[in-house]
Amino acid sequence: IFTKDYRLAPPDKAWKEGEPLPYSVLVSAFEKIEATTKRLEILGILTRFLLMVAKREKTTDAKSSNLLKAVYLCINRLCPDYEGTELGIGESLLVKAIAESTGRNTTKIKEDLRKEGDLGKVAMLSRNTQPTMFKPKPLTVPSVFQSLTDIAKTSGNNSQTRKVGIIKKLLAACQGGEAKFIIRSLEGKLRIGLAERSLVVALAHAIVLKDLGDKKISPESLTQKLEEGAEIVKGVYSELPNYDLIIPALLEAGVAGLRERCKLTPGVPLKPMLAKPTKAIGEVLDRFEGKEFTCEYKYDGERAQVHLLDDGSLAVFSRNSENMSAKYPDLVEQIPRCIKDGVKSFVIDSEAVAFDLETKKLLPFQDLSRRKRKDVRTEDITVRVHLFAFDLLYLNGESLLHMELRERRNLLLEHFQPVEGEFGFAKSSDGTSSEDIATFLEESVKDGCEGLMVKLLATSASTYEPSRRSINWLKLKKDYLSGVGDSLDLVVVGAYYGKGKRTNVYGAFLLACYDPDSENLQTICKIGTGFSEEKLAEFYNELHPLELSGGPRNDIEIGGAKPDVWFEPKVVWEVLTADLSLSPVYTAAHGIVESRGISLRFPRFIKVRDDKGPDEATSAEQVAEFYQRQATAAGKSRGGNVDD
Ligand code: ATP
Repeated sequence: IFTKDYRLAPPDKAWKEGEPLPYSVLVSAFEKIEATTKRLEILGILTRFLLMVAKREKTTDAKSSNLLKAVYLCINRLCPDYEGTELGIGESLLVKAIAESTGRNTTKIKEDLRKEGDLGKVAMLSRNTQPTMFKPKPLTVPSVFQSLTDIAKTSGNNSQTRKVGIIKKLLAACQGGEAKFIIRSLEGKLRIGLAERSLVVALAHAIVLKDLGDKKISPESLTQKLEEGAEIVKGVYSELPNYDLIIPALLEAGVAGLRERCKLTPGVPLKPMLAKPTKAIGEVLDRFEGKEFTCEYKYDGERAQVHLLDDGSLAVFSRNSENMSAKYPDLVEQIPRCIKDGVKSFVIDSEAVAFDLETKKLLPFQDLSRRKRKDVRTEDITVRVHLFAFDLLYLNGESLLHMELRERRNLLLEHFQPVEGEFGFAKSSDGTSSEDIATFLEESVKDGCEGLMVKLLATSASTYEPSRRSINWLKLKKDYLSGVGDSLDLVVVGAYYGKGKRTNVYGAFLLACYDPDSENLQTICKIGTGFSEEKLAEFYNELHPLELSGGPRNDIEIGGAKPDVWFEPKVVWEVLTADLSLSPVYTAAHGIVESRGISLRFPRFIKVRDDKGPDEATSAEQVAEFYQRQATAAGKSRGGNVDD
């Protein structure tokens, strides 16, 4: 399928030339994708669909592009994620809209929901029993996109009623399986197992095939062209994650002209490079043997990508590309003081850390998280923020991503200056002996950091790899060295009622990791010890509104877990574990290491991760990696035990 040439595939009969793309054509692609779990098949279905749309595209204007809107609907988004317009309508509002549009009562709908576990399916089945008096115009991709955008942007007075109004109109126009996907889109997740990385590859393949026109080509060269195209589009997307810019460029100049037109640009946050966990200094030395590397303090704050745009404006983005400029007006005010003359534009990667101006000491992450989320007025700020820059990705019109870390670091030091209490460079040490690292690790913890980040310093392996969890960046977290080397970020999907004194609150919680391939959440453990009464009350207030009346959604792979209530998956917690074991009950990472799932033993709550959504939770693959590394380490020490 990978090499299949879809150029001769006929367009879908339901789509008449010159008309807007019918929503039903997109839905039939969704249905085919939902019916399979095979990656290559999904890629094939999507490629064929996108090629058909691209071939008929008459415009390269982003606003009227069918292709752009179809791509956004495939990944259930309405604009680049940093612009913040998001779907994710609560269950009760959707139940209300379905009830009103079908004339059924909400109790019946909730009953169906308990049976089906999928509100989309319930909406589809409900609709089919409703007699229609007149036929509304069929939905099109542009009209659905517009309605979803209107819903997401509706706020203020009466917004709930207005949202229900738009949803009802949409549902009234739905045919066949359309209602299922409209509702799922509104919930915020399509749940057809379409990972965004497959979409990027399919888009690249579609454009390569479109650009080939009728040209005859051998299967081998076609495969090569498709592979090269996918690499280019993936690379460009991780630097400039904005389809509004990429799709018009692809339509205009093809894959070949993409790199020239779409580059890292201040104002568009790139996906940050991530690190792999390590369990011991010895492991770091093993991995980086014979290579030049540097150790940096791992500051305990919030990642901040700082952009200076050509027009002189500044923007600060979070780890998941959220614009934090309104949350950190003080940072925006401080930053100009660290910029030396001659700097016109830049992108810095850094950590924003809470700072005590009197003692001149770093404060833990908890102090930073106490700041209000949005629209903070500078005069109301009690917790100061100190920025620690560790990388320079763009300077005066040039991307530096392809440079070695040492060169990027030199440019950072050359063009910026420390400002006491406001801006500094991540403290680093290039010593490479085990003793050097151990001393520096101790020092970092004494200074209020979590440990060290160890990074390759030279050679082509030390370039900045956007969006990659790279083996060229290792994290060494002091507190977690005795466990599995790192904490996990897990989604709270269910809860168990408390006993004794705790009957008014939840006493324990069911957690899950995320599998990006299937888009499913997989249960991993029950966590119930170590919570104070106060914390339990706080969690109850936060989680109670997320309770699902219809039981678990069908994108949760439950296994044998039986919590008393299920939640809309929204909240992410950082959790520590003593070790991981294979489990007959939980489903995390099943099929990767063994058919059984993996679970955490003695899990301990650390903190709420406000800066992560469920899709950014620890992935099934990472869970499997933790398990495997632990197994290898155990194997090694057992080897030692024989000698004992
Ligand atoms: P993940 O668990 O997905 O890796 P995370 O956000 O939980 O991501 P951590 O495990 O805490 O990340 O480790 C990486 C983070 O450490 C970075 O995202 C950044 O916010 C922070 N950090 C602090 N100091 C540095 C540094 N010197 N270099 C790189 N990152 C740093």
